[in-house]
Amino acid sequence: MTTTSSSALSYPPSWYAASVEPLPPQPALEGDTEADICILGAGYTGLSAALELAEAGYRVVVLEAERVGWGASGRNGGQILFGYGCGESKIENLLGRDDARKLFDWSCEGIDLIRERRERYGIDCDWRDGHCTVAIKPRHIDELSAWRDELAAKYDYPLEWWDRDTLRAQLDSPRYLGGLYDQRSGHLHPLKYALGLAHAALNAGVCIHERSRVLRMTRGDAPVLHTANGRVRCKTVILAGNALVHGVAPELDRKIMPVGTYIGATAPLPPTLAQSLIRNGMAVADTNWALDYFRLSADGRLLFGGRASYSNLTPPNLRSIMRHRMRKVFPQLGDLDFEYLWGGVIDISLNRAPHWGRIGPNVYFAQGFSGHGVAATNLAGRVLAEAIRGQHERLDVYERIRHRDFPGGRSLRTPLLVAAMSWYKLRDAWW
Ligand SMILES: Cc1cc2nc3c(=O)[nH]c(=O)nc-3n(C[C@H](O)[C@H](O)[C@H](O)COP(=O)(O)OP(=O)(O)OC[C@H]3O[C@@H](n4cnc5c(N)ncnc54)[C@H](O)[C@@H]3O)c2cc1C
Repeated sequence: MTTTSSSALSYPPSWYAASVEPLPPQPALEGDTEADICILGAGYTGLSAALELAEAGYRVVVLEAERVGWGASGRNGGQILFGYGCGESKIENLLGRDDARKLFDWSCEGIDLIRERRERYGIDCDWRDGHCTVAIKPRHIDELSAWRDELAAKYDYPLEWWDRDTLRAQLDSPRYLGGLYDQRSGHLHPLKYALGLAHAALNAGVCIHERSRVLRMTRGDAPVLHTANGRVRCKTVILAGNALVHGVAPELDRKIMPVGTYIGATAPLPPTLAQSLIRNGMAVADTNWALDYFRLSADGRLLFGGRASYSNLTPPNLRSIMRHRMRKVFPQLGDLDFEYLWGGVIDISLNRAPHWGRIGPNVYFAQGFSGHGVAATNLAGRVLAEAIRGQHERLDVYERIRHRDFPGGRSLRTPLLVAAMSWYKLRDAWW
């Protein structure tokens, strides 16, 4: 899928993999070992929980099928956002106004947590402040202005409305009619941040095993996670495998749908050109269901994301589709191509709300980030860790969100989702 050779780090090739200091490979699990907590998955969720628990004195082992940050955490758009994939109204419908307010405030804590960790552990991850959600059509202006009013009235969260000219002064694209700007949100280099979290976790005493795929879990008073060459017996398990895990806890698999999504990175642009595209350096996303999202990297590349695949297949003409979309936003870039193009998988829940909780007394999980997980996963790790330490009030609230299985089981859910998404794409195109 990419134009560049494979990274020495054995990550799937991406600009992210090509621009990080490697973490020394962590040994695969060999033989039997014991831990207080065993965590499946070294993405943000697993690492965040591992760090909190190790700092609280627990013996923590993380089992990662590939490498630290190999999944969505090392490939995403880097946009650090408040809220959840389903939006505030959906949470309010599901939980009522008081709990919706709590969840909203906690989601903002997720943003602050990244800031804190960046400073506390010295994680150099190219953080930039600012995010703008932009309107393409007149109906988007109405939607954004209703959203702004809702956030101000119910969540005391002020966003700035920028009309077309104000927006154009920062974002040199003819495509947008205005936007909602948020100074608290921002963007970062996702893999640098994941590796920084892993460093912090290792320093806190966490034992990370890479190349250690969990094949099955034995439940009970002392659950066991089994890999090809070893076993971890523990008091408590955290399942943080996101869209990539399946077969370990089938009751969780049924609640999420893996969806592919893609990002292209241009070569570094001449500094004056790069700066002219997004003058204030913010991240940008539009309001379409199948949205475009983009930002500049620290070395002046345009990172342009979008295009979902609901069929588990990479779209055949992905490169030209992505270039076409980038050209619609920035026609001044002409035929500019991507130097890197990569994909990743997001874990969509049926209602797009977060699915965090427990299965049994000693198996915890967080999934269903629905493409909106950079800040929320950091928070999820903290909320799971708190619950394991006996403070389960916050997890109890998330657990009250009801989740349904995807209809059609494993074989039929993909075609059904493709049909549903085609409708949304039509809506993006025509209304
Ligand atoms: C292309 C892309 C763009 C995105 N852009 C944004 C964005 O801009 N903003 C935003 O908020 N969100 C974004 N997201 C979503 C966000 O990246 C995710 O919600 C978040 O990173 C999920 O973190 P995680 O730790 O739960 O999962 P992951 O990072 O996927 O980590 C799960 C880990 O578990 C491992 N694993 C799986 N199965 C096993 C097993 N059996 N045994 C051991 N290990 C296993 C995997 O190898 C993986 O490393 C994007 C996602 C993608 C893919």
